[in-house]
Amino acid sequence: MPIDLRSDTITQPSDGMRRAIAEAEVGDDVYGEDPTVNRLQDVAADLLGKEAALFVPSGTMANQICLYVLTDPGDEVVLERSSHVFNYETGAAGLLSGVQLHPVDGKNGLLTPDAVEAAIRPDMPVFPPTRVVSIENTANKAGGRVYPMDRIRAVEDVVREHDLRFHLDGARLWNASAATGVDEATYAEPFDIVWAALSKGLGCPVGSVIAGSQDLIEAATVARKRFGGGMRQAGILAAAGLYALEHHRPHLADDHEKARVFAEGMEACAAFSVDLDAVETNIVLFDVNDGTAQPVVDRIADEGVLLTPFGPKTIRATFHRDVSMDAVSKAVETIQALYAPTAA
Ligand SMILES: *Cc1c(COP(=O)(O)O)cnc(C)c1O
Repeated sequence: MPIDLRSDTITQPSDGMRRAIAEAEVGDDVYGEDPTVNRLQDVAADLLGKEAALFVPSGTMANQICLYVLTDPGDEVVLERSSHVFNYETGAAGLLSGVQLHPVDGKNGLLTPDAVEAAIRPDMPVFPPTRVVSIENTANKAGGRVYPMDRIRAVEDVVREHDLRFHLDGARLWNASAATGVDEATYAEPFDIVWAALSKGLGCPVGSVIAGSQDLIEAATVARKRFGGGMRQAGILAAAGLYALEHHRPHLADDHEKARVFAEGMEACAAFSVDLDAVETNIVLFDVNDGTAQPVVDRIADEGVLLTPFGPKTIRATFHRDVSMDAVSKAVETIQALYAPTAA
């Protein structure tokens, strides 16, 4: 069995999760009659500190629903250049919501209030109306960086001053909270609408939860159906989410510890550069000093450790509940045997 560090989406449902799935009480969720989905939505709304929540099949659909309910066609959405919405969603925001994305450069993948302010269009009939500012916490492509709360507040000030709407891609919001101790509801409070993934570090096979005001969640429910995401006996899936929130979420900090151990192991290799201060959650980015990432990833894969090339010279390793600390040590040893460590 290879040690698979490509993504935190590759996890298998745990035994307890499989039991919860098997025993789930279900109904037709398009009728609003699935008790397990309804329970998950109540729990999620509570954890995220919002009036209501909605269970959706994927994070991509969550982002697209959020943008759809916050915008009109022709509007513009300001986001960080490395964001998932801009890079990894097949141009869906243009297709499904008819909006234009306006990427700006942040710092370490995080938006700054100045960059947001500078991107907001003047109110003149030649410009697309700026409507939404979207941020990602943690910031995936930046290596799982956490937004400090005061940065979120500073961006929020700009958002409110210009009467914009504020969207949070919280695919890994649980990781941000596990890393800092700031609870999810506190992180979510400045935003009109937020979502968090159940299928990444939490280890569910499927699903994300969107949370916001009652009105926005009603609009999101219509959008979910319109996008083909209305599900029937979805309690089968929601049961996994409830199980993960209770039993897997408390262990996310372990994944951060694994990431740190791995990053220190890579730093000891002369062939690589890693910014240890940038390792805040479950993602490690490191750079290949000579040559490109792909052949290095291929060579390490031949020895049974799977990584993701994440840029011309950058490699990503992601830590999750299906990789043990022993496996992390083994991965480090394997890579160090190939790329000789510098003298300690
Ligand atoms: C994974 C991810 C998504 C998309 O989630 P899927 O469930 O894979 O569609 C969106 N945003 C971020 C930051 C992600 O890491």
